Amino acid sequence: MRAPALTLIDLLTGYRVTQALYVAARLAIADRLAEGPQGSEELARATGADAGALRRLLRALVSFGVFAEEADGRFALTEVGALLRDEVPGSLRAGVIFYGDQRHWNAWAKLEQSVISGETVWGPRAAHAFFEMNAKDPEGAAIFNAAMTSLTSAFDGAVMVAYDFSRLRMLVDVGGGQGALISSVLRANPGLRGILFDIPPVIDGAKARVVAGGLGDRLELVAGDIFASVPPGGDAYLLKWIIHDWDDEHSLAILRNCHRAMTPGAQLLLVERVVPERIDPSADTQSTLLADLNMLLLTGGHERTSTEYRTLLGGAGFALARIVPTATPLSVIEGTRA
Ligand code: SAH
Repeated sequence: MRAPALTLIDLLTGYRVTQALYVAARLAIADRLAEGPQGSEELARATGADAGALRRLLRALVSFGVFAEEADGRFALTEVGALLRDEVPGSLRAGVIFYGDQRHWNAWAKLEQSVISGETVWGPRAAHAFFEMNAKDPEGAAIFNAAMTSLTSAFDGAVMVAYDFSRLRMLVDVGGGQGALISSVLRANPGLRGILFDIPPVIDGAKARVVAGGLGDRLELVAGDIFASVPPGGDAYLLKWIIHDWDDEHSLAILRNCHRAMTPGAQLLLVERVVPERIDPSADTQSTLLADLNMLLLTGGHERTSTEYRTLLGGAGFALARIVPTATPLSVIEGTRA
């Protein structure tokens, strides 16, 4: 067993890995290695980096299995490192850029402030502050929207294996971002039509992707505000990573607007991490509870337990039918409109 002090030191210094990955992603190292191994001199010339410093960065990432070092000292991609490539299926590069970017990084530097005040790093105004800030910062918004699209790709396959969308006719993705999940679901279920609903700038940004994805006639794009209304007509309403952004009061307002748009028997599908009632150490609960701290810092939302979801759904007129686990930390929380 690893000595407790060494275990604690590993945990303590974990933040360094985020920046090491971020720099590798920024310098597009993985794309440069896609054609085969390269030495640090060659990579340094291509990226404008210092060869010695770049070698030190890459060796550190070799120790985490992100790259491999060949016998001749050249660096190669591993299966993990290949996910840092841009514009490949399953690419997590945009997710890495989001987590390492100064905006997110600086928010985590204020964790103590949030733990003392109980408020987000922007103050008490729930997720509104986060999305308003995005509205004033197009670069930050682009980083965020691309990250959601990128990170979703790590989960959408597992969600589709765990949940049968094939019996549905019309799926509404509420706060669906650039449409990554609903596009995958529609491609896998040719009989299904969909509506992608989000705020106007996100819908504008999603248009080109949806057209490029060849779903033009089956996926309608609607811009609006979840606190005003959501589009009617779906037999299921998908909300992935929406309710966790909000406190109970705002979550209830969103869910009641879904309820109003839905006909009796229509289904509500929340795709979220579910916090266990009692926490045992495991990789899945770690990612869930660190995501909960993300919500504390950034949006004022929460990751919730199944009991909390049942209460929340009940308050908006839904019965929690079942929670369908996936092979990832995400579950599909299915509610039925009474
Ligand atoms: N469902 C996507 C995106 C989750 S991020 C995914 O899982 O990848 C939260 C989303 O909620 C963002 O796309 C954001 O633009 C959207 N959102 C935030 N406030 C909103 C509002 N008032 N009306 C509609 N959408 C909103």
